[in-house]
Amino acid sequence: MTERPFPPLGVFPYPRIVGWVSTVKCNLKCVHCYPSSGAVKAEELTTEESKACITEFSSVGIKVIFMSGGEPLLKKDLLELIKHGTNEGITMFLCTNATLLSEKNVHLLKEAGLQRVFVGFEGVNSETVDRFSGVKGTLERKIEGIKRSIAAGLPVSIDFVGTKYNYAELEDVIALARKLGVSGFSLKRFVPTGRGRDNMDELWVEPVKYQEVINAYCSHVLNPDGMDFGAHEPLVTGRLTELKPMKFYTSTCPIGMWCGISPRGEVLPCPMLPIPLGNMKEDSLKGIWENSPFVAKLKDKNALKGRCGTCELRYNCGGCRATAYALSGDCLAEDPNCWKVGARTC
Ligand code: SF4
Ligand code: SF4
Repeated sequence: MTERPFPPLGVFPYPRIVGWVSTVKCNLKCVHCYPSSGAVKAEELTTEESKACITEFSSVGIKVIFMSGGEPLLKKDLLELIKHGTNEGITMFLCTNATLLSEKNVHLLKEAGLQRVFVGFEGVNSETVDRFSGVKGTLERKIEGIKRSIAAGLPVSIDFVGTKYNYAELEDVIALARKLGVSGFSLKRFVPTGRGRDNMDELWVEPVKYQEVINAYCSHVLNPDGMDFGAHEPLVTGRLTELKPMKFYTSTCPIGMWCGISPRGEVLPCPMLPIPLGNMKEDSLKGIWENSPFVAKLKDKNALKGRCGTCELRYNCGGCRATAYALSGDCLAEDPNCWKVGARTC
């Protein structure tokens, strides 16, 4: 199986990436989980419906699908969907907690055409990770899963969601990632939605402290030393613009370039923004996207309000629209996680 690098995305009228919350079933119960996953049952697309969605994604030019959840390895049709996406010419990625990456699973995933595994990794301390996941022994199982994956030739990236629980372990997680031989590392925004909203007081990092986390992370982005550092955090590109001005840093908020799909087929502007634009069971992605001026509004940095609206960094950052919505009910409001905006008042 030849590895497909992250494909060039270009500028197109439809999303190029899908973040598919394919299930809310999970063997863990993480405190920050935005789909509130766990030992729960919820309506999900059938295999045939899911395959039809993938075929349509391919027809509008979707290049990448992140199969996420919940824990997608609990989905009985996961391999079939990965194979189908691969046959449709789509780069298939898996977002997993890594605890179910058995020897057998990593080989089956690779055979199905999976290109990369993204592992949510919250700390290096068993106590931190167990507290985060609600299940004892999670850290060890994650590490074993990562090792198996790499040994099977399936590259791994680590996604680190910065919260009050774990931001102090960022440097240690980066060091462990290097030791394990992972290929990529990404700082991800904690969005207080779903269970994350319920546990927000325990998790939210106040803006001034968060600025320190962003600064520390940016120094790795600027001096990567062999590892590929990315971000799903607009404040990173905003800060990079200040630290090392370049012609243009594109905001790491991919709104407009990606969309979310909920387990029951709803199309969302982003998986963490629970505002359905339509449902794949009733309409096509093309139709939903074309009839949604809302997405264009979300992309328009000149439509932002509050401090984001006047900020000199709004084209490079623009804040996280999902966080703004979660805390104010207005997607265009200023980003309450930003130190330029100030301490939380809600
Ligand atoms: S709104 Fe926030 S969570 Fe959604 S894509 Fe943008 S940065 Fe990511
Ligand atoms: S005020 Fe808004 S646009 Fe400016 S840096 Fe903060 S989050 Fe980004």
